[in-house]
Amino acid sequence: MDYKNNINFRKQSLIKLLYTVKLYEKEISEALYNDFKKPAFEAFVTEINIVIDELNYTIKNINKWAKPKKVLPSFLNFPSREYIYSEPYGSVLIISPWNYPFQLALCPLIAAVAAGNKVTLKPSELTPNTSSLLSKIIRETFDPKHVIVVLGDKRLSEELLKNRWNYIFFTGSVAVGKLIYKAAAEFLTPVTLELGGKNPCIVDETANLPLAAKRIVWGKFINAGQTCIAPDYILVKPKIKNELISLLKKEIQNAYGENPELSPDFTRIISKEHLKRLVSFIEFQDIAFGGSHNEDENYLSPTIVDEPNLDSALMKEEIFGPILPILSYSNNDDLKRIISKSEKPLSMYVFTENNAFAEKIIQDYSFGGGCVNDTVVHFSNKRLPFGGVGNSGIGAYHGKLSFDTFSHQKAIVKKANWLDIPFRYAPYKGKLKMIKKILKWI
Ligand code: NAD
Repeated sequence: MDYKNNINFRKQSLIKLLYTVKLYEKEISEALYNDFKKPAFEAFVTEINIVIDELNYTIKNINKWAKPKKVLPSFLNFPSREYIYSEPYGSVLIISPWNYPFQLALCPLIAAVAAGNKVTLKPSELTPNTSSLLSKIIRETFDPKHVIVVLGDKRLSEELLKNRWNYIFFTGSVAVGKLIYKAAAEFLTPVTLELGGKNPCIVDETANLPLAAKRIVWGKFINAGQTCIAPDYILVKPKIKNELISLLKKEIQNAYGENPELSPDFTRIISKEHLKRLVSFIEFQDIAFGGSHNEDENYLSPTIVDEPNLDSALMKEEIFGPILPILSYSNNDDLKRIISKSEKPLSMYVFTENNAFAEKIIQDYSFGGGCVNDTVVHFSNKRLPFGGVGNSGIGAYHGKLSFDTFSHQKAIVKKANWLDIPFRYAPYKGKLKMIKKILKWI
């Protein structure tokens, strides 16, 4: 079992994982449903298929990615051949969250395995069905000396973090991300922190409003708003605000019917505590739509809040649920004032037909990634890096970048011996002028 040096072994492991994931497709979907009523469609599109796709892509490309990359040699090193070797970090810890508990656990794991690491995965305790199925899938696929899943809550995480890891990949909240970073600093362990934030969604007067409403409702209410890159709140020009609210209501009804509680397509809130927190957000707010909940069912209806106070908890914390605040803005200064109240977001969205305005937003604000005239979908392109900036995270992954994330890039110069240019060696007398001339020339 040479997972470090034998690329074919890594590839075969991933092929085996692909087989096992496909074998358990139905069980995965059921586990996700049992954890928080994730609809089978969303389970497939936003979890299972993402993992299958990632596996296929990695299996197809692993040989190419793992090969030492020849780079243009430096003239100063002549004669030489120069390379980047992708070296596995060694022992990797992956800690994952509950909101997309299957793919956010397995996508980093796939990359870590592809890059030749030994992996310990700690999935979330809040999705017990999915986490124990993950454990089963991994047990059936890998030797436990190569990849294991450990099940437990934050106490287990804390114990794990007392050990020395060669890389830690964490997906979760900003607060816990800071604890991970501190624990990693003890051993100077490199990290990826995939965190969250408040993601603004700007709609200006030139936007195609019906389409904007449809795409915002989709991105906000998929997984009941429990998506790290869901639009957190809307900023809209006053003269189109009422029209946008009407269109949003219409789109919510189109998607989930008159009573979303009865819809098979609307996910539940992950726990009673999370529901309580969300319900407290909408107390004393001006509810433009929805606002009902059912504690027995962990259900909160898709809710629109009109002009919440910027100092309310709703506008200070990441919402991470099906509540959509709408705020109006008149000019760029308003935008700056509102958006800058929060830390750098994980994503940002702008709906506009005005390219210059979209470009200005992209240039003026620092955020992980985002879309013009859509929400969430930047996640889907493997050629785009996925990650935050500032408080929304450190590092990025997806596609080849995932492989690189779990590899140390080792620089190697292979020098030939048939020539040895004497300039660099002491004594230096008479060489300074000459070396300056040569450096100018190259
Ligand atoms: P969380 O930070 O509460 O938990 C994430 C993981 O950390 C879980 O496995 C949990 O057991 C563990 N954990 C909890 N407390 C810990 C502690 N004190 N020490 C060590 N480990 C601990 O996050 P969550 O509630 O599972 O997920 C929601 C958050 O994750 C949101 O903020 C969301 O934005 C973010 N998120 C980010 C991404 C991304 O890709 N950037 C994706 C999904 C979710």
